[in-house]
This record gives sequence, structure tokens and C-alpha cells, in this order.
Amino acid sequence: MTPTIDQALQAARAQGLDRLDAQLLLGHVLGQARAWLIAHDGDPLTAAQAEAFAGLCARRAAGEPLAYLVGEREFHGLTLQVSPAVLVPRPDTETLVDWALELLGGELADRPAPSVVDLGTGSGAIALAVAHRHAAAHVEAVDTSLDALEVARANGRRLGLPVVWHLGSWFEPLAGRRFDLVLSNPPYIAADDPHLAALGHEPTQALTPGGDGLDSLRWLAAHAPAHLQPGGWLLLEHGWDQADAVAAMLGDAGFAAVSHRRDLAGHRRCTGGRWPG
Ligand code: GLN
Repeated sequence: MTPTIDQALQAARAQGLDRLDAQLLLGHVLGQARAWLIAHDGDPLTAAQAEAFAGLCARRAAGEPLAYLVGEREFHGLTLQVSPAVLVPRPDTETLVDWALELLGGELADRPAPSVVDLGTGSGAIALAVAHRHAAAHVEAVDTSLDALEVARANGRRLGLPVVWHLGSWFEPLAGRRFDLVLSNPPYIAADDPHLAALGHEPTQALTPGGDGLDSLRWLAAHAPAHLQPGGWLLLEHGWDQADAVAAMLGDAGFAAVSHRRDLAGHRRCTGGRWPG
């Protein structure tokens, strides 16, 4: 006897899975939305469906991110495809996008085709969200991982968003170019942060630069001025306890109006500044 939808979901819960995760995994196996599952909870699964669901539940229980198991993740109103080659986009990073959009619609609104670059784009989340919400912007993005860049490029193509993608390390493919807005969610977790162990399914190079976790942020703060238009902004995402350190880096590099934005948990998650030029 194969289980019904309801029985399969209950078995997953008994294994310790979150209710929503179980529904999303079963919906993925059946190619149906959550609402459909609820309306059909007495329907039996086929043996193949039951087996596929059990396999995904075991992987989820072992810590694989849900986004990798279903192959996608919502970010800032977009459905992005993801693979283990890219960091799973986090809701915290929407804070960075919202700040960028605020500047594009405010202080930078007089620039007719503002140029924006997302460094270390991963799945393309930041670049694509900005391109989606501010069509006048000219958006480019860089990643040092070819596998990540392929995920990002495919997302751009599927969503019909015209981001220009570059393979390379930080500003390397952008020699001599200046932007109105430089954005980055770089690796920032310290090498000895116990939190890192729980993120073992995600690419290490997207999570930590090693050491105290500040190396990439330091590098970006020091090198961004050469790639910013006068009056352009650098916005950086960082760890919950790194806001003062990043503000000091931006101050030392000569940025003005250094300020912060808070994430959903109320932590100062992003720090940015204006390049006086
Ligand atoms: N915000 C992620 C986390 O702590 C880390 C992302 C990053 O290092 N850029 O899980």
C-alpha cells in the first residue's frame, strides 16, 4: 500500500521535517502547488512518488537546503533557480536591494541610465532584483565561479532581464570602468564561526574569506573608489556584528554619508557610503 498525501506528509513530520518544507518537497515531486496538496490530501501516491518524496525528506533531514532540493528560491518577488554552485539567496539580502532601489529612485534619480554592478553575484539575485525593479538601470554582475555565473546567466535569460554577466574576481573584468552603484554580498563569515558548519552544503568561497571574515569587505572598501562615479554609492552586506568595522573601512577609504540598513531581525546588516569623487 502506498501512502496518501496526508499520510506521506505526516510521516515526514514524524521524521522531524518542518511542515512547510514537507509540503514544498511533496509539491515538487508531484509538480503541484501547496494548495493542491491540501485539496487532495486523501489521494494515494504512486510507489515512485512515495520513494522520490522519502529520498528528498532524508536529504532535507540531513541538512541539505530546501532550495537545492527543489532547485529554486524566491527572492525579492522573483523565482530564481539555484544549485549547490551558488549561495542560497537570503531574505536579509533583500535589505541591500531595497537600499539600492531607494537610491536609484532618490539621490541617483537624476542619472538617466544609472550603472549598477553586483560583485560576487552567485545566483544573480541582487543584480536581477535591481534590473527587475528599476528597468532604467544598466546592470552588470561579476562572479569568479563559472558554475555560479552559468546559474545567474540562466536566471537572467529565463526571467528576460538584461543583466551583463562577467567572469572574474571582483573588479578584474571591469578595469577602468566607473559605476553609479556598486553592490556586494561578499563572503563574510569568520573562519572559526561555529555557524559555518551548518552551512556545509553551500559553496565555502561564497560564505567565508577565512580569517576574521572581513578580508573581502576590506578589499572592496579599498578598491571601490576607483570604480565609482562622483556621488556614486558603495553598498555592502556583512555579518550582524560587523557594521562598525565596515563603517570604519569606508570612512578610512574616504566615503561620505556612511550609514547602515537593518535586516528583518533588526541587525545592522548593510553599510554603505557615497563616493565624493
Ligand atoms: N548571510 C549568510 C549567512 O550567515 C552568509 C552570506 C555571506 O557570507 N555573504 O548564512
